[in-house]
Amino acid sequence: MSEISGQAVLQERDELLRFGLGHGQLRGVAISLDDSWHTACANHAYPPAITALLGECVAAALCMVAMLKFDGRLILQFRGEGAVSLLVVQARTDLSFRVTAQWRDSLDGASLNQPLSALLGSGQLALTLEPTDGVRYQSLVAAEGVNIAAALEGYFAQSEQLPTRLVLAADAQRAVGILLQQVPGEGGTPAERARAAEAEFEHGAALIQTLTGTAGQQELRTTAVPELLHRLFHQEALRLTQISPVRFYCGCSRAGVGAMLRSLGADELAQALADSEVPGHVAVHCEFCGADYRFDAVDVAQLLREDSVAPPEATRH
Ligand SMILES: [Zn+2]
Repeated sequence: MSEISGQAVLQERDELLRFGLGHGQLRGVAISLDDSWHTACANHAYPPAITALLGECVAAALCMVAMLKFDGRLILQFRGEGAVSLLVVQARTDLSFRVTAQWRDSLDGASLNQPLSALLGSGQLALTLEPTDGVRYQSLVAAEGVNIAAALEGYFAQSEQLPTRLVLAADAQRAVGILLQQVPGEGGTPAERARAAEAEFEHGAALIQTLTGTAGQQELRTTAVPELLHRLFHQEALRLTQISPVRFYCGCSRAGVGAMLRSLGADELAQALADSEVPGHVAVHCEFCGADYRFDAVDVAQLLREDSVAPPEATRH
């Protein structure tokens, strides 16, 4: 890596870049997760293969959520019988994210580059779009292909009207992704526009495809995003249109956990107090950020009293 791109890595961190290419018939987003990615992994001892899979899922989810035309969030979730038993990625349109995974002991120490089928077995990823105002929509994505980008291309082919290509790479240091999408062009007949757009898309897709081999993945993981885009698209009239910060944000809170516990009811809470591994407390661990919440018998009694009145959040305003 050149010294210039080395410096750029230090400068261009935790950002999502929007860009346009060519004659306006291609748009894309590119993302680099750095400190936010370290924070997301800090409280988990993920094996390398899980780190790579999760990082690619987060980069993909944020690239996809950045293309949405509404406020809300995108959730990528998997439950299965393979080496990975649970995977949850939540990305919001403000470009914050949180993520967690569970795996079976068989995976400990497994190497970075595992095919998707070795990690997930057979199964389906649930991809949910959740507008802040509106109806949630879920698609099922077959967990097929060599990696998560290949699996998601199956989703794009089925659910998106616009041709879309995605490349991803991740390790413990960084998670990186580039999403390229065809947009309807202007001028000429619809058939002419479609042909021109398709030709541009195929050309752009071929360029990002160079980042999928072993050397390409290494390049994707270690190059600053602006430098990467310049290398790929310097002959395609590359235009950077917007740069936005990306952050890890869990959003869990004592009030939220309290509301969840309250919903369990008095009997179940009494049982939880009796069975707790933390004597005298109901203990709740956030699987996303690692926060621990503890409620003793007095707290639990208080929660149950609140059951009959408005929650404090509602009365404060
Ligand atoms: Zn949390």
